[in-house]
Amino acid sequence: MRHGTATAGQDPGLEGFLTPDNAEEVRELLTDAIQVGLDFKLRNRIFLDRQDPIAIRDQVMVELEESGTSVDKLLIELRDQILPLSKNEASPYFMGFGDTGSNVGAMVGAVIAMLTQQNMINQSFDSPAATFVELTVVRWLRQLIGYPDRPAAELTDVWSVGGVMTHGGTMSNTIAMMLARERMAPGTMSSGVTDPHRFGLVVPRGINHYSIKAAMTWIGCGASVIEVETNGYRYDRTDLSRALRAHRGEIAAVVAYAGDSRTQTIDDLAAVAETVRAHDPAIWLHADACWGGLCALSDELRPRLAGIELFDSVTLDPHKILGIPYALSALLVRDPAVLRSVSTYSDLIMQEEFALGQVSPFIGSKAWESLKLWMTMRSAGRDGLSQLATSRVAAASYFADQVRGRDDLLLLNEPDLMAVVFLFAPDELRQAGPDLVNEVNREIHRRLLQDGNWYLHQFSLPDPGVLAKGQLLYPLRFMSSNPRITGQLVDDVLAKVVATGRSILTEGNIHVRTD
Ligand SMILES: *Cc1c(COP(=O)(O)O)cnc(C)c1O
Repeated sequence: MRHGTATAGQDPGLEGFLTPDNAEEVRELLTDAIQVGLDFKLRNRIFLDRQDPIAIRDQVMVELEESGTSVDKLLIELRDQILPLSKNEASPYFMGFGDTGSNVGAMVGAVIAMLTQQNMINQSFDSPAATFVELTVVRWLRQLIGYPDRPAAELTDVWSVGGVMTHGGTMSNTIAMMLARERMAPGTMSSGVTDPHRFGLVVPRGINHYSIKAAMTWIGCGASVIEVETNGYRYDRTDLSRALRAHRGEIAAVVAYAGDSRTQTIDDLAAVAETVRAHDPAIWLHADACWGGLCALSDELRPRLAGIELFDSVTLDPHKILGIPYALSALLVRDPAVLRSVSTYSDLIMQEEFALGQVSPFIGSKAWESLKLWMTMRSAGRDGLSQLATSRVAAASYFADQVRGRDDLLLLNEPDLMAVVFLFAPDELRQAGPDLVNEVNREIHRRLLQDGNWYLHQFSLPDPGVLAKGQLLYPLRFMSSNPRITGQLVDDVLAKVVATGRSILTEGNIHVRTD
């Protein structure tokens, strides 16, 4: 890094801003920044330096000085002090969650979106062309999940498109719950909620994503959650029917997961839709496909989502499945006109046909995040997207085979998508009961994280019936979304888990009867 102050000698009013005079210096700075970012992503270690939160707080939270620091120096400070403490999801040893943000098209799109400062709130003067890039990806996503498609030439305004790009699955789910609320009690947008107990929310027990319930509370509908039993992480449809009967007239929404956030099991969407509609066709059906959207990319995998097109709304999370840098999600609706029920009218958000700000509750100024997805989809093409989806699912399947092949490990799910959930549970530990199995697996997870070398995710999950059905387990989770994970690394991480588990057992702090 070669720079002094990037703005020395300028008109004071322009200090710190790009002008034709400092363009070359700024270009070098941005090039350096990109180099620092790429080095970070290509770093093998997940964490270079692992410290507890208090130590990190005390190191990072400095006072603002009177005089400024050159951007060049700050970049070095970031590189040498903050990034070593930061997590690299693109490391090939990071195998537990989410996505790498390493898609090349998406990264280039992110840079252009950042440099062009389009504001998606209005079309005519804020984002004359970017608006239509966004509408293009909404249309492509609708086609992929099988919603009725309209040719671009028939899209006359934002209410004819049938989708909204948002900042994440949580926001997409929240808009879906608003739509459910308006279906149940039209006009609540302006009149407010009067009797929140009417807005029952049906979810599968133990695997619901917190955002759905939180959404209901945020939009004033309280938390009338009706939990339905599951079988193998899918709705038990007998219990679903029972719940629908028991709460007749008091259910605003039924949510089904096309890939729950733990095991990524895809529910039998067609059967869920049929069951719900048979009881009450007015109930809002929402499919959370944050993970399952992956299957929509491939003809071979799409049948796993059969029935998704029957749902009133679908959440997709491209930042979780396509290697897209945070944050980008989509809410799609089967009937485009329903978005009118949650629209915002203001003379600030211009009342023009294509002003996206009218159909994005909670969001005002909005960056051109959708360009990342447009770049990813265009650069891969249908073939490339299909290849990406099938290779990720195949990699999970390979991992599950390795777990199945060992008698000291126990597989908890037959992977539908990218997640493989398993326990270290050699015979003697299984005999000792689920509490000890949990204790050992939590300690394995703690040590792996502490180590900073490998990452597998952990959470609580009801036992599907491998040890004691219904008991809460604390398994480990592998995720196959990182294209840099190799077969060798899979062997190595499993060896590491088993060795860590074995040494916890032999240390003898956890007492396992072996008689
Ligand atoms: C991650 C996730 C969400 C929330 O998405 P964000 O993008 O993190 O806001 C919602 N539902 C499911 C099933 C998820 O996995």
